[in-house]
Amino acid sequence: MSVADEIFAVFGRRGAQAYFGERVSITEHSLQAAHAAQVEGAPPSLVVAALLHDIGHLLEDVPDDIAEWTVDAQHEEIGSRWLATRFAPAVCQPVGLHVPAKRYLCAIDARYVAQLSPASVRTLELQGGPMSAPEVAAFENEPFFRDAVRVRHWDDLGKRVGLTTAHLTEYRTLLESLGNR
Ligand code: FE
Repeated sequence: MSVADEIFAVFGRRGAQAYFGERVSITEHSLQAAHAAQVEGAPPSLVVAALLHDIGHLLEDVPDDIAEWTVDAQHEEIGSRWLATRFAPAVCQPVGLHVPAKRYLCAIDARYVAQLSPASVRTLELQGGPMSAPEVAAFENEPFFRDAVRVRHWDDLGKRVGLTTAHLTEYRTLLESLGNR
C-alpha cells in the first residue's frame, strides 16, 4: 500500500468524527490546516505536516467528547512516531512539536492565549499549561521549532464551519512525492 493509500485509509476509518470540542470533523480540520499552509505559500513538507498534524488522533482510541478527557492523549507523539517511518524529519518533527508549540505560544504571547477556543483552553490544562521559562529556552533550541509554531497557527485556523477546501485525495501526488515507502 502506498503512503497516500495508507493515509486515506486512516482518515476514511475515523476522519468523519467531530474534531474534539469544535464544530468541524477531523478531516475538515486537517484539510483546512493544509489549506492555510498553502495560502501562506508554505513548502511542501509543511503543507503535509499541517495536513497530518492530528493523525495521532485517528490512530488512537480516544473519547469523542472532550469532557471525557482526563489525561492528554499525547496525539502529537503518536502521530509523529507513525510519520517518522514514512516521511523526513521536516514533516514529522513539526507534527511532534505542535502541542509544545501551543504551550510555548501561551507562555510568550498573551494575545495568543486570549484567542484560543474553549476546547483548546481545556486541552491546554491537560497538556501541562503554558511553558516555564526554561521550557521556552529548550523549545527554542529545537531545530524545527519555528516550523512547529507555523503548523500550530494553521491548526488554530482550521476550525471554520463551511470553508471550502481541496478534497483529501487531491494530496495524493504531494504525499507520494514526500513519502518514503
Ligand atoms: Fe489540530
